[in-house]
Amino acid sequence: MSTFPIDLSSDTQTRPTPGMRDAIANAEVGDEQKREDPSVNRLQEMVADLCGKEAALFLPTGTMCNLIAHHIHCRPGDEIILDASYHPVNFEGGGPAVHTGAAMRVLETETGVFTPEQVATAVRPKDPHFPQTKLVCVENTTNILGGRIWTLDAVKAVAACARKHGLLLHLDGARLLNAVAATDTAAAEYCSHFDSCWIDLSKGLGCPVGAVLAGNKEFIDDAWYQKHRFGGAMRQAGIIAAAGIYALEHHVGRLAEDHANAKKLAEGLAEIKGIGIDVDAVESNILVFDIAATGLSRSDFFDRLGPHGVRFSGLMRPTLVRAVTHLDIPVDGVERALAAVRQTVE
Ligand SMILES: *Cc1c(COP(=O)(O)O)cnc(C)c1O
Repeated sequence: MSTFPIDLSSDTQTRPTPGMRDAIANAEVGDEQKREDPSVNRLQEMVADLCGKEAALFLPTGTMCNLIAHHIHCRPGDEIILDASYHPVNFEGGGPAVHTGAAMRVLETETGVFTPEQVATAVRPKDPHFPQTKLVCVENTTNILGGRIWTLDAVKAVAACARKHGLLLHLDGARLLNAVAATDTAAAEYCSHFDSCWIDLSKGLGCPVGAVLAGNKEFIDDAWYQKHRFGGAMRQAGIIAAAGIYALEHHVGRLAEDHANAKKLAEGLAEIKGIGIDVDAVESNILVFDIAATGLSRSDFFDRLGPHGVRFSGLMRPTLVRAVTHLDIPVDGVERALAAVRQTVE
């Protein structure tokens, strides 16, 4: 057991449920690399269907989904347009530079949702002085700026601009199903505007490992080569794919509960003196709040919460704290977290 029974630091802090463990234990398996693992094959078909794409590929991590997609879409010296807060800019060890030799052109936003005008301004003219713009990446929901949602209209506007400039589009859908739950937009509607897209199994869906990349057949054929080259080709991976199938069957409908819990947590935090939070900005399962006015340093704040079994995570700015709700938060977890914060700051 975690020493933090109320671990709001990330939706990666879930453990497989008993039902998921049964599914893992009973998984049918085969050699994935020979395309003979029935569980992997089934999971890939489920995600291809969900995303409305021709094919899909099971990969160990979402990071590998991003890296492989960048690698297929870009050549060395090409430039990727994305928000400064996005995962490849901050949390992939400089992967796009290392593996692909791609440059990243970052856009500055409050929410991670940028506009077609920002894209148009960032596109490079065709001129040998400049890196050549190749790809636009969208993260939906956005991660470190607080689980913000790209509406379908916002996606359409950016996609139209990108297409006008001859660019490709990639969707980092680590939490796409959270956006789907919050907007009632079908995943396939979102994905129809992108050349490649993926969902993470190890975030709100509650799996221990895995992500699935989707696209047209040619893209996924290429992605198989890259999966081997990046060292992500596995063997009896049905053991972990079975968790993904289970999650798609049992954990998608409940994401709305995480969103309701995040809202409840935000409303409670807003009533605590010294906590700065914009409740209206909480759109899915991630919320960000400011503890500057409590007079506590973030490390003091975290140290004092520890004995209550409550954990949050820090963000770039030293007084900002992030909370993420997920399926392993106990039913009374939000109340207990709020009581702990109240005691800590008062
Ligand atoms: C977690 C995350 C990733 C990376 O996924 P892993 O499965 O942890 O490698 C990429 N993008 C976003 C937005 C994420 O939240």
